[in-house]
Amino acid sequence: MKKVAVIGAGITGVTTAYALVKRSFDVTVFERNRYAAMETSFANGGQLSASNAEVWNSAATVFKGIKWMLSSDAPLPLNPMPSWHKYSWIGEFLRQIPKYERNTVETVRLAIVAREYMFSIAEQEGIDFDLEKRGILHVYADKKGFDGATKVNVLLNQGDLDRRPVTPSEMKLIEPAIQGQFYGGFFTLSDSTGDIHRFTRGLADSSTRRGVRFAYDTEILRADALADGRVQIVARRDAQQSTDIVDAVVVCAGVHSRRFASMFGDHVNIYPVKGYSITVNLDDEASQNGAPWVSLLDDAAKIVTSRLGHDRFRVAGTAENNGFSKDIRADRVAPLITWVRRNFPEVSTARVVPWAGLRLMLASMLPRVGQGKRPGVFYNTGHGHLGWTLSASTAEIVADNVALSYGVVRQTVAAA
Ligand SMILES: Cc1cc2nc3c(=O)[nH]c(=O)nc-3n(C[C@H](O)[C@H](O)[C@H](O)COP(=O)(O)OP(=O)(O)OC[C@H]3O[C@@H](n4cnc5c(N)ncnc54)[C@H](O)[C@@H]3O)c2cc1C
Repeated sequence: MKKVAVIGAGITGVTTAYALVKRSFDVTVFERNRYAAMETSFANGGQLSASNAEVWNSAATVFKGIKWMLSSDAPLPLNPMPSWHKYSWIGEFLRQIPKYERNTVETVRLAIVAREYMFSIAEQEGIDFDLEKRGILHVYADKKGFDGATKVNVLLNQGDLDRRPVTPSEMKLIEPAIQGQFYGGFFTLSDSTGDIHRFTRGLADSSTRRGVRFAYDTEILRADALADGRVQIVARRDAQQSTDIVDAVVVCAGVHSRRFASMFGDHVNIYPVKGYSITVNLDDEASQNGAPWVSLLDDAAKIVTSRLGHDRFRVAGTAENNGFSKDIRADRVAPLITWVRRNFPEVSTARVVPWAGLRLMLASMLPRVGQGKRPGVFYNTGHGHLGWTLSASTAEIVADNVALSYGVVRQTVAAA
């Protein structure tokens, strides 16, 4: 049996391990935290959103970015401090602008396939993750925003997504809790939401039952591609170092994947873009009735919402270009709370849990999935703002790539 190491137990690492063990590989997942899903896959926006598949590489985003640089409460303030990593990434981002349409359509298609895999995995493994299949409603306060979304819709439709325009009165019928004045919206019934942390932890348990080993509290210090096609992994647990030789490695190390890629001679220029969420505890009946069940995306504020069961309401957004820091800044959390108060005044914000995580952005906004330059080295990483949405399908793709390299035939398929 071929030995495969997976670096990282976030959503991408755990779905990859699951897809590999189903193809009869001997899989070990290395994770420096004590549990799965403790970093970016901890408390994200929860949206499984093909309707949010538009890549950001457009002239419009660049103009907005320049405007936001000067505003402290902007949805994406850019810290102008010089850094080679940041400016090389921005250069690559600009070079991808001509591929905006193609990359958007490709992302939609990937997202549509991914959700079928995810639902099928959850059903097969009996994972409860507060899945709500009630659709996602994009809301626009003015005509300018709505007209922009109408253009994007052409691309989403090309990718076979049914996202339709809705009037303010239709919006109220779709989600009765919604308040405020809107110009219009777009509704995608096939999109859904769920708790990424619960799903990842549940799938890690299922994968363990199927034979995957999870080496927690274990940090990978080095990984080297050997001349014979195998890969050497040097790890540290407590103060002890150990060395493993495996047939293949799949890098799913979140914002740290770039460092591993450089050890293997590959260029995977992931830049961390910090985001925030709040989980509003709906402790009383008025809050439970006043919070929406249909997931919302407020495009102007760059805020997404998910209802996680009857007593939790997740609101996520903002992006901060500020290196690897995960510090939670009160001035970045405040706009999320204000947004809840303004749009859902019945919801009590007395007990709100803030969180910050790092989106792992590649300049093309497409994840890096597949083989590296050296034999035995594979990637499933760089999913940016859509890792929850895309990971079930990218895990299948990378596991197929590994299987093809070793002539292993898939035994069971996660989804049709
Ligand atoms: C605020 C916010 C909102 C978001 N909302 C959504 C959304 O609504 N829908 C959506 O689809 N996506 C969303 N995303 C994006 C999504 O959460 C991420 O794309 C996804 O969680 C990334 O998963 P990952 O497995 O690649 O990374 P991670 O979850 O970060 O996992 C990587 C793992 O690798 C481990 N690791 C790294 N280096 C080492 C090492 N040396 N040794 C051992 N282990 C190591 C880390 O400890 C970590 O556990 C959001 C992100 C943010 C920040």
